[in-house]
Amino acid sequence: MNIDTGPSIDTLRQTLQAQLRQHSQDLAVLTAAGTDPGSTGEDPQTVAERTVAARHAIEEIAAALSRITDGAYGHCERCTNPIPGARLEILPHARFCVPCQARAR
Ligand SMILES: [Zn+2]
Repeated sequence: MNIDTGPSIDTLRQTLQAQLRQHSQDLAVLTAAGTDPGSTGEDPQTVAERTVAARHAIEEIAAALSRITDGAYGHCERCTNPIPGARLEILPHARFCVPCQARAR
């Protein structure tokens, strides 16, 4: 596939892989904190919320990486139009173009 403007697929893949590593590290710390309350200095509720957020981010990023593999990456899952490169640069795991994302809310 082609992205006319913005970052290349290789750049986006590297960004996604870096984010995946970061969130995985966060999740490991949070999981440890979940079994040892207070070790991160945060209350259990905050740790639980951040754990859910980290898991969700990992799922989104892993899904984006598999879309790169199967060639679906960079197209809106709702209208199938290409997602602008500028949007992918900000949000590499974006599933929808901006109008569809706005409609989904
Ligand atoms: Zn769309």
